[in-house]
Amino acid sequence: MADSKIILIVNCGSSSLKYAVMRMPEREQLGKGLVERIGLEMGHLEQKANGKVYEVNQKIENHKVAMELVMKAMTDSEKGIIKDTKEIAAIGHRVLHGGQYYYDSIVINGDVKKAIRDCFDLGPLHNPANLMGIEACEAAMPGLPNVAVFDTAFGMAMPEKAYLYAIPHEYYEKYSIRRYGFHGTSHKFVSNEAIKFANLDPKNAKVIVCHLGNGASISASIGGKCVDTSMGLTPLEGLIMGTRSGDVDPAVLQFIMNKEKLTPDQMLNILNKKSGVLGMSGGVSSDFRDINKAKEEGNHLAEVALDAFIYRVVKYVGAYVAAMNGVDAICFCAGVGENDIQARKIICEHLSYLGIKIDDKANNVRGERRVISAPDSKVKVILLPTNEELQIAIDTYELTNK
Ligand code: ADP
Repeated sequence: MADSKIILIVNCGSSSLKYAVMRMPEREQLGKGLVERIGLEMGHLEQKANGKVYEVNQKIENHKVAMELVMKAMTDSEKGIIKDTKEIAAIGHRVLHGGQYYYDSIVINGDVKKAIRDCFDLGPLHNPANLMGIEACEAAMPGLPNVAVFDTAFGMAMPEKAYLYAIPHEYYEKYSIRRYGFHGTSHKFVSNEAIKFANLDPKNAKVIVCHLGNGASISASIGGKCVDTSMGLTPLEGLIMGTRSGDVDPAVLQFIMNKEKLTPDQMLNILNKKSGVLGMSGGVSSDFRDINKAKEEGNHLAEVALDAFIYRVVKYVGAYVAAMNGVDAICFCAGVGENDIQARKIICEHLSYLGIKIDDKANNVRGERRVISAPDSKVKVILLPTNEELQIAIDTYELTNK
């Protein structure tokens, strides 16, 4: 029987710190919390454990102070999660970008921190915050192993033909410009769990994961190793998302920039924050529930945005089936993938050429792990809720329990 250990999972943003406490390998979540508005006038911490809520409202100067408050919250005698922080065996950190350095999660030392710093250029919004979280934990709980779980690691298994862009090679050599892919922790979790859940061949199973949330991406993997994924150097490429455009002809950008007198940063901001179904629908919403509602009320642009979103998913799935010369399982996860029954049905109906048959009764569910294809479907379709926190806990436990 493997040793039972308590793992703290930390996900730092520039002004936030999300955390969870899990008992591994039992996969039991003991509690979780969120610190917001770090560095602002008034900060906020909220923790939920054992049906109890612990709250703090005070100025929280930086991530180190936030971490100290988290330790107090976790060990609160009435509403806490654990008795003593000494019970924590290791800390797992979500880190956005591992550049070309890391193909897998790793125990953090000076070299790892340097690499995370070297990738500030590639993940300017997230990597500095991720590093602050790591250093705050090192200061608050000295001596504990910290593990970095990179969102880009899963995509590092891709072959050159999938990750190199068809631009002059010198840019790859000089600046490491390539496809990295994101949501890697989610794609890793869902593809590995699907192999176990559907009893697929762990070495050769061909799996496509559709992570359809506000940010959306698709991956193709063989035996749990990524062979292609839709996001690129940044999370902007690929599918149509809540506010991100996904694939566009790059010449469109030059055209708009010239006409509207925009800087590259302004143009990128439009592609990241004002495009996707929000932009396509003429500003209805980035939330797919609102887009669905507007469509039902007869809003034509909302209908087109939804159609285009689904159409792009279907095109990517088709491309990845071709890339792998087959597929054994297609999985749906994240906000839309786990909840939008109709979207899953329409996507699967487009895939009938693969012998896919959806079971309407099985599909009539939200957020539950289950096979939603009919028994005689040639490809298994699986609704498999993602759990990035759990994957971070799994990696942290495995790396520190050797
Ligand atoms: P992210 O983590 O990228 O912010 P999520 O995975 O939480 O995104 O997904 C959020 C999206 O899921 C939202 O656009 C929301 O509208 C959508 N969503 C949630 N429930 C439903 C539903 N019942 N039908 C359609 N979309 C839904």
